[in-house]
Amino acid sequence: MKPYPPEMMEKLVSLCKRRGFIYQGSEIYGGLAGTYDYGPLGTALKNNIKNLWWKMFVDGRDDMYGVDASILMNPKVWETTGHVAGFSDPLSECTKCKKRFRVDHLEDKLKCPACGGALGPERQFNMMLSTKVGAMEDSSSISYLRPETAQGMFVNFKNVVNSFHPKMPFGLGQIGKAFRNEITPRDFIFRLRELEQMEIEYFVKESDWARAFEEWRVAMGAWIEMIGIDSERVHEVEIGDGDRAHYSKRTIDFEFDYPFGQKELYGLAYRTDFDLSRHSEASKVDLSYRDEEVGDKFTPHVIEPSFGLDRTMLAVLLSAYTEDTMGDAPREYLKFHPRVAPIKAAVSPLLKNKPELVEKAREVYAMLKKEIPQIMWDDNGNVGKRYRRQDEIGTPFCVTIDFDTLGETPEHKDTVTIRDRDTGTQTRLPISDLTNYLKRSLL
Ligand code: ATP
Repeated sequence: MKPYPPEMMEKLVSLCKRRGFIYQGSEIYGGLAGTYDYGPLGTALKNNIKNLWWKMFVDGRDDMYGVDASILMNPKVWETTGHVAGFSDPLSECTKCKKRFRVDHLEDKLKCPACGGALGPERQFNMMLSTKVGAMEDSSSISYLRPETAQGMFVNFKNVVNSFHPKMPFGLGQIGKAFRNEITPRDFIFRLRELEQMEIEYFVKESDWARAFEEWRVAMGAWIEMIGIDSERVHEVEIGDGDRAHYSKRTIDFEFDYPFGQKELYGLAYRTDFDLSRHSEASKVDLSYRDEEVGDKFTPHVIEPSFGLDRTMLAVLLSAYTEDTMGDAPREYLKFHPRVAPIKAAVSPLLKNKPELVEKAREVYAMLKKEIPQIMWDDNGNVGKRYRRQDEIGTPFCVTIDFDTLGETPEHKDTVTIRDRDTGTQTRLPISDLTNYLKRSLL
């Protein structure tokens, strides 16, 4: 596996900004640390990823139920789970420059990495972002922006069981925002304060947990392959006894070789019956499950595959980023799998000042756009430059309408050229085959 060039992050961040994938949050006011905004192409890429996830893990299965819970939850949720008392990272402040650092990320825990001053004593810093809900301004109005989407599923466990009577094992899936007041947000969209998660809580009988854990481990690997993350850069790391979250009996982290080191991409945890039992106890609502066939009643155990969406974006972008030379010229482009590519094909007239070419190209564009919405019209500059610009944003195909399309060479009438991003080869196809050709290539 080739290591990333040293300036990799700089190149990617710059391409993402220039071409409308990812912008710094609130940029015109100098930004807000730990926030990024997705531009038109970033949003399209993100939506494609979310839709594929939902299709693979919710709609594509008959044992999964989708939910969309509130970001604001009753604060008792977070007291019960232990987040109010313990969702914290170790922090220490420099006695000289007053900058704050996450101690477990420092090599020298005594010296300030910014100014060399002495670091003060370590203390725990709670990462939940609090806010006030309602018109009262006293402590009873304090609530938290959820630090994980998981709890929105546990608190709806009983609702879904009552509405759908699912057979064990079954799961809930959810995609949504989560917020963490990270001490040092960094590395582009890797460590954010406002992030998005795609999570699953899969409920099993205790005796079935190891089988389900293995099934999800394999499914997560298949997902990684499916969306075009370079699986050679993904490592499954078994988390040891002392390092797991207190509720977990087994955790595997899926780590990715980012340019800034091998770090967590996803987590897979066996959460036992910790959450349902604690919520049952604290809410006094029975969250056990009754097996209607056998008649026994028990508190389900849980396998939790957890996918950070922003880290998925970063791993997909890094895996796609490619530099090569084509026709003697260097090129920088995003080699997305067509499935995730924000634009599936660009349609262009060979020359934009020939009305008959433009008219025909518009026809082809409208025909394709009806069936495949992520199609782009592109008549800027000359055709070579168009190809390069489309390569840069990862468009897998460029369709060009030329004089042959209009019948200049009679046997080529009503055909177009379709150019492949990765090889640069151009093939001629009848317009009537184009939609199906593209649809097949996007699977
Ligand atoms: P880390 O150790 O990197 O802080 P974590 O172990 O706290 O991560 P989890 O609590 O397991 O993370 O969160 C589930 C997933 O959410 C992670 O696998 C990751 O993909 C994503 N995630 C967590 N924190 C952030 C963050 N600050 N910014 C972006 N994504 C995040």
